[in-house]
Amino acid sequence: MAKKKSDNRAAYRPATALVLAGRSPFEFEGFVNTPIYRGSTVLYETYDDLAHHRSRYVYGRRGTPTTDALGSALAAIEKSEGVLLTPSGLSAISTALLSVVKAGDHILVMDTVYRPTRIVCDGVLKRLGVETTYFDPLIGDGIKKLLRENTSAVFLEAPGSQSFEMPDVPAIAKAAKTHGAVSLIDNTWATPLYFRPHEHGIDISIQAGTKYLGGHSDINLGTISASGAALSRVQQTHGDLGINPGPEDVFLALRGLRTMGVRLEKHMQNGIRVAEWLQSQPQVLRVMHPALESDPGHALWKRDFDGACGLFSLILKPQCEANIGAFFDTLNLFGMGYSWGGFESLAIQFDCAPYRTATKWAPGGPGIRLHIGLEDPDDLIEDLAAGLKALG
Ligand SMILES: *Cc1c(COP(=O)(O)O)cnc(C)c1O
Repeated sequence: MAKKKSDNRAAYRPATALVLAGRSPFEFEGFVNTPIYRGSTVLYETYDDLAHHRSRYVYGRRGTPTTDALGSALAAIEKSEGVLLTPSGLSAISTALLSVVKAGDHILVMDTVYRPTRIVCDGVLKRLGVETTYFDPLIGDGIKKLLRENTSAVFLEAPGSQSFEMPDVPAIAKAAKTHGAVSLIDNTWATPLYFRPHEHGIDISIQAGTKYLGGHSDINLGTISASGAALSRVQQTHGDLGINPGPEDVFLALRGLRTMGVRLEKHMQNGIRVAEWLQSQPQVLRVMHPALESDPGHALWKRDFDGACGLFSLILKPQCEANIGAFFDTLNLFGMGYSWGGFESLAIQFDCAPYRTATKWAPGGPGIRLHIGLEDPDDLIEDLAAGLKALG
């Protein structure tokens, strides 16, 4: 019987791509998953092979079948020419930025990006002679006014970190392109399943694979997707700096990828359910979740995104510190911790006022960020109800 034909994988819908992409069982004795390759040294069989670098792999740091499996799977889903892997989401952000700037450049960064992204800009990049201007996430087409002759990059995140503003990604990407600046986005919230940045004009799409790709709160990983000239620049810097993740983490990300679609769908459903319930609670001032019709970013989310994850925020009516403490300590199902995207629910207090510069954070009460996990949403609602009651 004839061997199975190789499929035109690009033609499949996302759920099918998640199952197929990056797998070549018959290169690995028929085993379904690409094994974990541990290795630094790659041997050349003959002197001639060495002299002509005639081998698929050359050096552990430069890639293995395991890293290729994840990179090629993600490229199929991102619809890009290549995806580079890094040991954390933050290293994906810093590597991507370092790939597209040089001393004397100016960059535009959304004011409500993940806070450590700002620290990269205000620290390392500043020290290397790169100036950052932060912009209001709602700037849209108005970004044009901020572009300078030496502006080389525009960095976005959608929605904004903690406060969930929805930027007009295509408008900002288009302005950047017209100007000749590279556009980058931190797409950790939606993942490439619910938002495909390259289809909206973005050059470099970044994901903290730590979150939903891993999906089990047990790895740190970053991914950088690009095509053409942007991909060449990222490949160069990524290789030159020697940024490579460990093989177990890559394997766990591949395992996570296969179930990411079903997990995300449940995170989205549970998240919307809990967010809608919170909206009707008397202790809650407002809920920030782009999938809610009442959210100011809803129209843009609906236009550009295919779904939402389980992360959103709410603002409580003003409370004293002791009551806030009582709220958190009453919760049984919500762990207090920062890195989200695993199967479990989380709650954390936040305050953006001390570090944002282009926008003013004065929400009228304490901010709480929730990650809604895969528990039964009725149990989560009962837990939150007890917490809200403890506010007094
Ligand atoms: C968590 C996170 C990161 C960083 O990922 P790490 O693996 O923890 O470094 C970057 N961006 C966003 C939006 C995140 O939520």
